[in-house]
Amino acid sequence: MRYYDKLIFELSRPGRSGFSLPEAEGGMPREGRLWRSAPAGLPEVSEPDVVRHYTNLSQMNFGVDTGFYPLGSCTMKYNPKINEEIASMPGFTGQHPLQPEESVRGTKAVYEELDRALAAITGMKHFTFRPCAGAHGELTGLMLMKEYHLGRGDLARTKVIVPDSAHGTNPASAACCGYEIVVVKSNSDGLVDVEALKPLLGPDIAGIMLTNPNTLGLFEKDIREIAALVHDCGGLLYYDGANMNPLLGVVRPGDMGFDILHLNLHKTFSTPHGGGGPGSGPVGVSERVLPYLDVPRVSGFNGNFTVMLRALAYILMLGRENIRMAGRLATLNANYVKESLKDCYKLPVPSVCKHEFVFDGLLEPNGTTTLDVAKRLLDYGFHAPTIYFPLLFHQAIMIEPTETESPETLDAFIDVMRKIAVEARTNPELLHSAPRTAPIGRPDETKAARQPILKYEA
Ligand SMILES: *Cc1c(COP(=O)(O)O)cnc(C)c1O
Repeated sequence: MRYYDKLIFELSRPGRSGFSLPEAEGGMPREGRLWRSAPAGLPEVSEPDVVRHYTNLSQMNFGVDTGFYPLGSCTMKYNPKINEEIASMPGFTGQHPLQPEESVRGTKAVYEELDRALAAITGMKHFTFRPCAGAHGELTGLMLMKEYHLGRGDLARTKVIVPDSAHGTNPASAACCGYEIVVVKSNSDGLVDVEALKPLLGPDIAGIMLTNPNTLGLFEKDIREIAALVHDCGGLLYYDGANMNPLLGVVRPGDMGFDILHLNLHKTFSTPHGGGGPGSGPVGVSERVLPYLDVPRVSGFNGNFTVMLRALAYILMLGRENIRMAGRLATLNANYVKESLKDCYKLPVPSVCKHEFVFDGLLEPNGTTTLDVAKRLLDYGFHAPTIYFPLLFHQAIMIEPTETESPETLDAFIDVMRKIAVEARTNPELLHSAPRTAPIGRPDETKAARQPILKYEA
């Protein structure tokens, strides 16, 4: 253990501090209403100890700013630093949500401009900006779906269709909204099986939730037919637009026939995310659902505003031409990595992918698992891809390189992935015992999530 791996409480020495102030004139009052009855129990350390403590802590984590982060379904793209500068402008950050409207015209203009930009990108009519995450947007969107049916006096629609490849939040949100879930299975190409969908449609179906490209990174090419079938039975189409990346400027969910969608501004449109915040999951609707969207659309308490600032800055900086490059490069990068590794890793669905794709473990695992591969990657300085998701495959490795990585970085990642495949064959112990370089090796993941030890106890 290195000296500065110690907790800051262990570095503490009575009376040590990082400052010296003259005694206040007339002395400090040592009692009274505001005086603590006991010391706060803070560590007593010098300034360098504090600086090293926080700097070392910051380096125990892995971020997009420290290395390549191909976490499938999460779109961990590089976030331009100018967006951070814009998001921290005091004119925006110093506002209060109850300020009179005429004093926040600039903020209102940001919402309106973002509404226009997102409507143009998605083919929706308007957005609400209140939801603070993708899943929050899903619930909002499904409530809109419910209102739409109730508003027409149609009370029989109690079920929502979700494909077996869906992101887990989709069935969870539908269930939260009181819907029964009906699963439609994928065909051997990894797409929604249209023939299996048909018998599920009827007067009890409120709608279908789809991601396109789907969770396997594949474009649902039958989407027009699916939309017609669902609309014919009186249902609506919900688009999970968390990962809109590959479609930017290329195709629009509105044109595919979707009625409601959410976007994850914190994935597709910049903003550093992960670790639980901050997010923004605006919900857009088509003409027919527009009457049910909450009004006023622009008012106080409108979600995480600085995430929207970053999104607008991102969109304006790229502009109409370059935003389509983002989608195309994300698609090119994913296909490049996929094709470069498919002779070492099992590729269950071999077609052209969009922004991400899924391997089903090593071709020759030799007793190693996907978890071993992921842990070994950490030793080589790369963040692991998403693993064991989607649930369609037992050894899933889901890779999303995003558009912001150079060919050299992708080649370095490919080299390491190939090296790990060789290691699995020749020295599997290396994989079983990985990671060797990370601060924490293999925690009990359930316990780490459910019973985390977050405070110091001497
Ligand atoms: C990330 C993601 C979500 C959920 O978004 P949160 O902001 O984490 O709630 C939903 N659907 C898909 C496809 C996603 O990738």
